[in-house]
Amino acid sequence: MTDPSPQPDPRPDPRPDPRAEIGVLGGSGFYAFLDTVDEVEIDTPYGRPSAPPVLGTIGGRRVAFLPRHGRDHEYPPHRIPYRANLWALRALGVRQVLAPTAVGGLRHELGPGALVIPDQLVDRTTTRIGTYYDGPGAVHVSLADPYCPAGRAAAVEAARSAGWQVADGGTLVVIEGPRFSTRAESRWFASAGWSVVGMTGHPEAALARELDLCYTNLSLVTDLDAGVESGEGVTHAEVLEVFARNVSRLRDLLLEVIPRLPEQRTCACGSATEGLPLPFDLP
Ligand SMILES: [Zn+2]
Repeated sequence: MTDPSPQPDPRPDPRPDPRAEIGVLGGSGFYAFLDTVDEVEIDTPYGRPSAPPVLGTIGGRRVAFLPRHGRDHEYPPHRIPYRANLWALRALGVRQVLAPTAVGGLRHELGPGALVIPDQLVDRTTTRIGTYYDGPGAVHVSLADPYCPAGRAAAVEAARSAGWQVADGGTLVVIEGPRFSTRAESRWFASAGWSVVGMTGHPEAALARELDLCYTNLSLVTDLDAGVESGEGVTHAEVLEVFARNVSRLRDLLLEVIPRLPEQRTCACGSATEGLPLPFDLP
């Protein structure tokens, strides 16, 4: 007599779980090492994200990678579909976002290869749409502390244990780009006490907050900004060269940060819009 109960299928499910809890806004260098990845075609009310997010598992955590500049780096900083990117991550289940970025150092001690986990942000961009709440009605979220305290702590701890020269705190000023700063702008930023200058940190941080997401910026210094260094000023080639040299280091660091992120959020990021009259349900 044969057993009528069906035997379990030994083959793994060919369709991996199209959900994630952690998002990484970084280039393809950050997930090229994963054994199995699942690319998800996703559309949003704000159009398509920079590229289809790629899902994988790291340390038992489901992670979605989204290259903010596109798969072939086709989006310059002022053309990145920021709203679609954050919306797509949230729609996949992501609640905590890690955002590595290349930046210029505004202080001599923050030279190429230094890492800053900023705790403050200054917006000097001019053409980007920085909100999901475009009316009717007004929705004002707090951005007093733009970065997730739990994510920052995880990033600093992981960086220290990996031997990085890491600055715990500092101010990231975001310029419109794509040009680099003039010497006067750069000196002005430095004299204000700001630490690093980048081109993508806004509106990313603000949009993440508007979607109740935790958002942590990891700023990798690729050069000293024009007002700080004494040579000809920043060049595109220098930035790419330093970033390429550090991308595997940064990837290894993210692998250490991801398992350190809390499984249950206790920070205030998840209730940023609580009690506010939202014009739509969050995905
Ligand atoms: Zn948080």
